[in-house]
Amino acid sequence: MEQKTLTLLRDYGVKPLHELSQEELEVKRSIARITTYTLSFLSRYLVERGFDWVLPVVFSKSTDPLWPDPDFSIEKRIEVEIYGETVRSTQSMIVHKQVLVSLLSPKIFVFSPNVRIETRKRASTGIHAYEFTQLDFEVRGASSSYIRSLVEDMLKSYVSSLKREMEHELSFLGSELPEIMTPFKVVDSKELEEEYGKEWQTSLRSTLKEPVWVVNIPREFYDFEDPETGRWDNYDLYVPRVGEILSGARREYEYEKILSKMKRDGVRPENYRVLLDLAREGRLLPSAGAGIGVERLLLWVTGVRHIGIVQPFPRIPGIVFDL
Ligand code: ASP
Ligand code: MG
Repeated sequence: MEQKTLTLLRDYGVKPLHELSQEELEVKRSIARITTYTLSFLSRYLVERGFDWVLPVVFSKSTDPLWPDPDFSIEKRIEVEIYGETVRSTQSMIVHKQVLVSLLSPKIFVFSPNVRIETRKRASTGIHAYEFTQLDFEVRGASSSYIRSLVEDMLKSYVSSLKREMEHELSFLGSELPEIMTPFKVVDSKELEEEYGKEWQTSLRSTLKEPVWVVNIPREFYDFEDPETGRWDNYDLYVPRVGEILSGARREYEYEKILSKMKRDGVRPENYRVLLDLAREGRLLPSAGAGIGVERLLLWVTGVRHIGIVQPFPRIPGIVFDL
């Protein structure tokens, strides 16, 4: 890690807990209170709407390949052997979510730790962490617009009650979070690419004034792709300053289609045996869902400068602290 980046991060307050000043610890404590409020608000919101709360898994044979994805920057995949079997640490629980809504319960959510060893160049973007928590949820038979409306309503009521209940903490942190207006605008990723080029994600982040949905993003096999039009039925939510805080889609559930997309993308079918078996047997059901990056959501609402500040134990690409 370049000394310059490390110094910059330290100036921002991205340091191990035991190196923080009293004032920096107070910032961290305010964020801890906002985190508590956020987690309890969002989980209650979903529980009240009939979602079952599932606990996460960490090691599995199947995990999100994170490929292909225009934002791909994984430096290393974690594969370890346990009990003579090769398992991978969770990059996202997408496969488990599809299986859960097909077999267990029509609506589920999970606070899922994701390990993504992002390239170390991303240390100073302020939004990347090599470990983070995703509030991942999925709904059997849902359409994209159902999920988008659910997210809009959830975030609107969250921001509005956060501003009321955590007023003291937000003003201590200097957050100027405005109320949010729904519905959010919807933009096609192709239009963004024409306007800003391949780096549209970065441009969007600095120019946005309000949350916006970006749709039709070519990526992993599990997002639904219309074979006739080539359109992808997926959506990411971008917010000012932070950029993408949520990613989701309607899902593929048909065996032939999933298999041919895997082959096209160079993703190994043998790593997705259960998903493929269920699809072949017609037991994988249509669904849609999304995942909210919890730390990015906190970064947005608190207004602090770096994702490492909202993490009690910062997980910044390229920087490994003791704890
Ligand atoms: N959680 C995302 C989804 O539901 C997958 C991801 O982590 O990008 O599609
Ligand atoms: Mg993704």
